Amino acid sequence: GPDYVRAIAPYQAGKPISEVAREFGLDEANIVKLASNENPFGVPDSAKDAMAAAAAELGRYPDANGFELKAALSKRYDVPADWITLGNGSNDILELAAKAFVQRSEGIVYAQYSFAVYALATQGLGARHIVVPAKDYGHDLDAMLAAIDGETKLVFIANPNNPTGTFIPGPQIEAFLKKVPANVVVVLDEAYNEYLKPEDQYDSAAWVKQYPNLLVSRTFSKAYGLAGLRVGFSIAQPKLTDLMNRVRQPFNVNSLAQAAAIAALNDAAFLEKGARNNAAGYEQFVEAFEQMNLEYVPSYGNFVLVKVGEDPQAGARVNLALLKQGVIVRPVGNYGLPEWLRISIGLPQENAVLIAALQKALGEA
Ligand code: PMP
Repeated sequence: GPDYVRAIAPYQAGKPISEVAREFGLDEANIVKLASNENPFGVPDSAKDAMAAAAAELGRYPDANGFELKAALSKRYDVPADWITLGNGSNDILELAAKAFVQRSEGIVYAQYSFAVYALATQGLGARHIVVPAKDYGHDLDAMLAAIDGETKLVFIANPNNPTGTFIPGPQIEAFLKKVPANVVVVLDEAYNEYLKPEDQYDSAAWVKQYPNLLVSRTFSKAYGLAGLRVGFSIAQPKLTDLMNRVRQPFNVNSLAQAAAIAALNDAAFLEKGARNNAAGYEQFVEAFEQMNLEYVPSYGNFVLVKVGEDPQAGARVNLALLKQGVIVRPVGNYGLPEWLRISIGLPQENAVLIAALQKALGEA
């Protein structure tokens, strides 16, 4: 295989519950997983019903163009349906963007401590990746702008960012969009957008009408509770969408996922319940971290990055101590943050289990 493929470090997903149960001799029912920024309420009932109805047609291929889901998204975001691209999760969208807009000799710009798939998508093409140092664990947009050179074709921005939870206010993003050269595509990855408080929200779908080089990426994996189904989408003008569609696999979003996504999109009560739980869980975590004297990065997502020690083994050590107690979180050494753990916000009881287990782990460590 090519050298640039050999150089890729594989993505490290959160450990599955069944694997931890086996490895540590635990009962699956007692394991708490706060590792993958999943929705603690699981799949909305509305989506379960929609899938049950769609199951009868599983002998057929899915709608290759996702007509109904695109129509629903078009209505929701007030953009034409042909501005929307559906993805097998938003990871698929990120990869389609890299494939469609960048070739080998060209470059991609993204921030240190930003989402791991930007590096993977870039490296998989053998493209040049320019990693811009973070500022306060978040994106430094001025430095990112300065890093764009003649060969740059794509910039990735995660807002809020994973794994740090940082957020860039809308006006700063728009100021950045105004300055980026017109031949550079900006992928604005808003996987955690639905967790933003109303006062932090901004209208990126409206920006797409104004900036022909903007592609907004969203997912059904987080606030909508459909991570296992793999559905994401992007909004961009037809010039970009047309290129993405050329490199897309024809049936990249399965029928159950399409049906469930439409139902979830219309389930405002589910989103609201999730947002309320998330806000309360965030308070529960930061109160505990403050009591335990642990540094954390203020988060705008459904997870918190917390520093569990000063030495570079701290994250791995505390992670192991948590696993032994049946609590799965995410070490972030692969992001260059070996003293930290990323903890997803769960139900109040799950959060309480994590807090108690963390206190015990730190006492032993
Ligand atoms: N972007 C960000 C910032 C993420 O954190 C994630 C999930 N880890 C994704 C995209 C991809 O999520 P999915 O493929 O499930 O839509």
